[in-house]
Amino acid sequence: MIDYASLDERLAEREAAQLYRRRKLIHSPQGVEINLQGKTALNFCSNDYLGLANHPELIKAFTSAAKEYGVGSGAAHLISGHSQHHHQLEEELAEFTGRPRALIFSTGYMANLGVISALFGQGDAVFEDRLNHASLLDAGLLSRARLQRYQHNDVSDLENKLTSSNSDNKLIVTDGVFSMDGDVAPLKELATLAQQHNAWLMVDDAHGLGVLGDHGGGCLQQNDLTLDDVPILMGTFGKALGTFGAFVAGHESMIETLIQSARSYIYTTALPPAVAAATRVALRLVQQESWRRDQLNHLIKQFRQGAEQLGLSLMSSASPIQPLLIGDTAKTVNISQQLLDDGILISAIRPPTVPDGTARLRITLSAEHQQHHVERLLDSLQKVLKP
Ligand SMILES: *Cc1c(COP(=O)(O)O)cnc(C)c1O
Repeated sequence: MIDYASLDERLAEREAAQLYRRRKLIHSPQGVEINLQGKTALNFCSNDYLGLANHPELIKAFTSAAKEYGVGSGAAHLISGHSQHHHQLEEELAEFTGRPRALIFSTGYMANLGVISALFGQGDAVFEDRLNHASLLDAGLLSRARLQRYQHNDVSDLENKLTSSNSDNKLIVTDGVFSMDGDVAPLKELATLAQQHNAWLMVDDAHGLGVLGDHGGGCLQQNDLTLDDVPILMGTFGKALGTFGAFVAGHESMIETLIQSARSYIYTTALPPAVAAATRVALRLVQQESWRRDQLNHLIKQFRQGAEQLGLSLMSSASPIQPLLIGDTAKTVNISQQLLDDGILISAIRPPTVPDGTARLRITLSAEHQQHHVERLLDSLQKVLKP
């Protein structure tokens, strides 16, 4: 007999600690106003930073590619699943990122697992920021390289760890924009350190791509970092680009190595071609419509000024991720519920997603928000947090 009772016991413990996770059922597309089983709420927690997930041009490209190519890709890229839309998207991504080549993965999680475990293994050394995304930490463990975590954005802690490593094949890996804090990694210093120690540098720019940089090229474009500075760039389609999937960009030999040996690339079905087709349109809009980034920047400024006036404890973030640190888990869950009762959707982010004692409201802004939406958010925060 399988012991389901012990699972139930652990679930009950989780519930008692306010750590139980529940899914909210959504009855509408992503957008500023979202329908939660008949109740409308203002959405301040999606990663659709530029408001492209429900954009008519993306929907048009998606449906017309589905008519031409069907729904499923039918196979992995190396079998018969690599369509013209995938191929062109890869070429466009290479051009967009200023890298020789790009390779599509089915998700960002899989891209991170695939890259790190294909390029690094036993005897190698992987250095990760403590606050890196879970997929990067899992990738480090899966690779079987020696995984060391350095203090968040602490270049001198990293330097000490690099100096005492005697591995010949080293990787430094960091989020570009940190997903739960919204701050940006010290990329120039990391690039210099990587070169001094002859280490690879990998940046996961899931939250910077489309949002930062003059043409939405992300934190590498913002910091003028070349292929030599950052040999491995990973980006996702599920956030600012509004679709689904991910890519890795870099040197020809690196990409070919991934095609030959990244297991999460080889042993999985290719994205639907229609998703690739919609992503191509998103990539064009990201570059052409800089008003979306301008609008975001206005909203970020408005929110920070307003929150400061209310005396709320903001984190040092210039990105659309504007978390409010609460600390206590139960309190955070309670505040999130009160906000929802007031028509504002912001999810409570709890351990282990963030370190113990740092539960928070992860507020995110989108280019589709208007000034009055942010005013409404600030009013509601005042009611709930500063009654
Ligand atoms: C969302 C995210 C991922 C995972 O990407 P998916 O395509 O959703 O699997 C990886 N890294 C970071 C930093 C992310 O925020």
